[in-house]
Amino acid sequence: MGSRDAIAIGDNRPSAFELDAEQNLILDQADRFARTELYGLSVRMDAEEWWPEDAFPKIGAQGLFGVTVPQEYGGAGLDLMAAGLVAQAFSRWNHAMALSCVAHDNLCLNNIYRNGNEAQRRKYLPDLCAGRTIGALGLTEPGAGSDALGSMRTTARREGDFYVLNGGKLYITNGPVADVLLVYAKTDRERGVHGVSAFIVEKRFPGFRVAQKLEKMGYRGSQTAELVFEDCRVPAENLVGVENRGVSVVMSGLDLERAMISPICLGIGERALELSLDYAKTRQQFGKPIGSFQMVQSMLADMYVQIETMRAFTYRTLAAAASLELGEGGRGDIHKLTAASVMYAADAVHSVLDKAVQIHGGSGYIWESEINRLYRSIKLLEIGAGTTEVRKMIIAGELLKDMRGHDRG
Ligand SMILES: Cc1cc2nc3c(=O)[nH]c(=O)nc-3n(C[C@H](O)[C@H](O)[C@H](O)COP(=O)(O)OP(=O)(O)OC[C@H]3O[C@@H](n4cnc5c(N)ncnc54)[C@H](O)[C@@H]3O)c2cc1C
Repeated sequence: MGSRDAIAIGDNRPSAFELDAEQNLILDQADRFARTELYGLSVRMDAEEWWPEDAFPKIGAQGLFGVTVPQEYGGAGLDLMAAGLVAQAFSRWNHAMALSCVAHDNLCLNNIYRNGNEAQRRKYLPDLCAGRTIGALGLTEPGAGSDALGSMRTTARREGDFYVLNGGKLYITNGPVADVLLVYAKTDRERGVHGVSAFIVEKRFPGFRVAQKLEKMGYRGSQTAELVFEDCRVPAENLVGVENRGVSVVMSGLDLERAMISPICLGIGERALELSLDYAKTRQQFGKPIGSFQMVQSMLADMYVQIETMRAFTYRTLAAAASLELGEGGRGDIHKLTAASVMYAADAVHSVLDKAVQIHGGSGYIWESEINRLYRSIKLLEIGAGTTEVRKMIIAGELLKDMRGHDRG
């Protein structure tokens, strides 16, 4: 009996260890599109923090946004696994664009689908799925990073048919170009994390502005901003879910976001190995290709093992997260698994890129080289969507959750 049969016994779902034919097709199609349409944009994006305005409508026209959203709202009606494969393929060729796509597609679009009401879905999803509008998510603030909910200062005050938002958000991906933003604010400051609500804010709402576009060391071209809300009037109908219940929206969204960051790590790692193999075969020293030296071979073998481990963990986690019901997440096994998967993948891709640059020698140290651009991507993967330390806190917290009455640290 083949290993595939063994895995499939008693379970008709696709194996998390091997892609099925449809999943392979999605990965191949997204890879072909990214290589022909997105790869060529990456040099100028990196050099100038340039945003290619045509890219999102093209991605939308290919049906590569709204992968997880039913077709009646303009989506593809697939699942998180398929969305992860798109992110993996995009990350091989243009990881900055992949990051912007995940912020748009997962943090904003999929979040509105999962937590919004019917009117909100009908109003916002078709344009987001088509790439006609750009989405973002605003959680982090200047004083609220790892403690995003507890330290949140942005407030929303109900005034008749509106909520009035005041405060600021920092490091918001797509912020400078976003049309639709899912924004978290405190509707009841006394209730701490249980006084947070989620709102859909449009860039044209009075009182909203982009304070500054931020210049980054990596993912350049993916736009990042500081945002300001000054008596920003948001129609009450744009409250997402129930007032003061934003914590479940945040926590379930963060689980899905972490599941979607791992395929970015995987795609970057795959491309780094490909470039390193090419270089090892063509770069000659001591009259031989450097790939003939055992110490270089050792680095290539380590990179391969890390990438294959990343692949297995990433797919397993995506498959598990894909079956999360609407409104679920933020606790239990899936909370632990998504934190563990992204923590491992970020750590592994850091190690892979370290070796890749070493194999490239001086050429890898040059800013314009592709391997250098990939190298500059690794730190964010250990910071965004909860830092490595926060991921460890989540994992340990879940492992030790029945240890009552003691300080877990
Ligand atoms: C390029 C980029 C894009 C981003 N995009 C978005 C976005 O689209 N939307 C959004 O809302 N946010 C976004 N973020 C924000 C990101 O999620 C935060 O940067 C991240 O959560 C960490 O917060 P912080 O930067 O304030 O760090 P801090 O929370 O200040 O942490 C600083 C250091 O202290 C450590 N630390 C903090 N608390 C603890 C603790 N209890 N125990 C141990 N160590 C601790 C951290 O791990 C870290 O090492 C983005 C950030 C960047 C850089």
